[in-house]
Amino acid sequence: MPELPEVETIVRGLRPTLPGKTIERLRILHADVLRQPRREFSARLKGRTFESVDRRGKNIVAHLTEGVVLVVNLGMTGRLVWARDETPTTHPAVRFTVNAGPALVYDDVRRFGRLEAMNETEWALRDRDLGPEPLSSTFTAQRLHEDLSRSVSPIRSWLLDQRRVAGVGNIYANEALHLAGIHPQRSCKSMTEGEARKLHRALRRTLSSAVENRGTTLKDYRDASGNPGDNASRLRVYGRGEEPCLRCSTRVCRLVFGNRSAFYCPSCQPFGSGVTA
Ligand SMILES: [Zn+2]
Repeated sequence: MPELPEVETIVRGLRPTLPGKTIERLRILHADVLRQPRREFSARLKGRTFESVDRRGKNIVAHLTEGVVLVVNLGMTGRLVWARDETPTTHPAVRFTVNAGPALVYDDVRRFGRLEAMNETEWALRDRDLGPEPLSSTFTAQRLHEDLSRSVSPIRSWLLDQRRVAGVGNIYANEALHLAGIHPQRSCKSMTEGEARKLHRALRRTLSSAVENRGTTLKDYRDASGNPGDNASRLRVYGRGEEPCLRCSTRVCRLVFGNRSAFYCPSCQPFGSGVTA
């Protein structure tokens, strides 16, 4: 599932090519990926010109003329790619024909992704519900510690909640917790100030190095040009159940809770680590 680094990579790929393009035609092949009626979606976007493209959490946020905002959440298997000859678009759901160059295609095998055309006010309300950006300067270790102290959730579940921190999903939550030496089931409230500081640093390191490596491709993720990312080989625990921990050689454990797999090293991430009385 694309998380912050994958979405950031797509956005960086679209930034030099998308602004200035005008949507001339839309072809909606699967309306179930739209969050609104297809007519409304088309009417809001047709004839508008892309002005900028950004990322917020796991969302691609494109601003168009006349205050229109196109928000794309890739779900599990979504891709937003230029339909060049060499680009694999196997399950196109929405095709945007623009005034110059190839079409922009939203492709999604499983169709858990969602697209919505909003106005600036509607987007501002949605944006407000999302937590801080973990790579921004407003996300500080102190703020993280304060936010954690108000929750009794297991830390891994808390990290996946987009209202708490925006953009973190299961891969990078597991990776950051391993780097910080924190067990995924530890309660947020039990986190010491020192642990929150370690987690803060680990989240930023994990996410920014994944951005540098252009994201993690396990199966479906592709950037805007259709290329896979290079980060999969750098994963330390995610998807490595039963394999030796890269730090201490203890076997990595897999545990399912909150309907998602957690991967951790029982030596590097003991359950009782740092719990204060
Ligand atoms: Zn270990």
